[in-house]
Parts: sequence; structure tokens; C-alpha cells
Amino acid sequence: MNIRVSDIKQYFYCPRVVYHTYFTPVHRPMTHPMELGADEHEVLSVLERRRTLACYGLEAGSRKFHVPLHAESLGLTGVLDLLIETETGAFPVEFKSTRGRLDLNAKCQLTAYAMMVEECLGVAVTQGFIYRIPTGRITPIAISESLREKTRGALRDIRRMLSDEWMPPPTPQRGKCVECEFRRFCADVL
Ligand code: SF4
Repeated sequence: MNIRVSDIKQYFYCPRVVYHTYFTPVHRPMTHPMELGADEHEVLSVLERRRTLACYGLEAGSRKFHVPLHAESLGLTGVLDLLIETETGAFPVEFKSTRGRLDLNAKCQLTAYAMMVEECLGVAVTQGFIYRIPTGRITPIAISESLREKTRGALRDIRRMLSDEWMPPPTPQRGKCVECEFRRFCADVL
């Protein structure tokens, strides 16, 4: 079974969200913030095409948007927001609709894309970028062994959860539960 890169992001937010996504049959309408996020991604994709790569600290190179990736050995699939290719390497870029700090979930999501690019293109990826849309801030992220191991660990846990149909414990950060669409299925947190 292929795991989606978005599952890794959700896993670090709350592992149980991933469980419910696969095993709890609920209708998941696109919320207003989700719609806004999708719109922002589209606008940014258009603006990005007009800019140089200097804002990434890179010189000449090519840009590909909304790149579908599938890594057989990782059992991972996803669509990368932007892939920059230069003579010196390949750089995945993720667009985020946040002004705040970058949490582990965003970094591991980028790392998952980096590992997929390595498998699909046969190149080593040492750095990627996270682009915070509201501020235009671009943050380079080193694709470290530590981030790779955390990402692989999340993949292992998600596979175990799916194969054993094992419901993980709830997030210890109960504030996340207040507006969670799955809260009625988490009776033990209420
Ligand atoms: S209600 Fe809380 S524990 Fe349950 S899935 Fe949502 S965030 Fe996780």
C-alpha cells in the first residue's frame, strides 16, 4: 500500500488523524481555510514563474510545479509544489500557508519529498526550501540524517497502524482536539 506524503504531515500533528483518515468513513468537505490555502498555492505558482531563483540563493536552473512523485522503495506518493533543478543539484520546495514557526511536520514532509526526488531522479538532495506564503519568507532546510530517520520512523509507524488496524493514542496536545473533524470518534479525549 502506498502512503501519501500528506499522511506524514498529519502523523506528526496527531497520529490518530491518520488512523481515522483510513478507517473512519466520514465525509470530509473542503473547509474554508483549506480552500484559501489551495487558492494561495495557485496564486503563488503563477507569481513564482516570473521570478528569478536568486531568492533561493541559486543561479540558473529550471522550475517544475505540481510534480507528481512516486517512490517504489519507500511506498510513498505525493505531489511536490515546486522542484528546482540546477547544475549543482535538485531542490524540493513546499509552499505553506503559515506565518508561524516551522514545525517538525513541515520539515519531515519536505524530507519525504527530498527522498522521493532522490529515488525518482537518481540524484542526492541535500537541501530543500519551505516558502511561507503570507510573508514570502523562504527558509532553507538541510535534509539531515536526523530528519530522514524521523521521516522513516513515521513511515514505519503508519504502516504498522494500517496493517494492524491499530488505533494510536491521542495527541497529548488536547487543544488540537477542539476543532478536529474526528473529535466525535475520539471519545477518550472528551
Ligand atoms: S480529536 Fe484529538 S486525538 Fe482525536 S484525531 Fe483529532 S486531534 Fe487526534
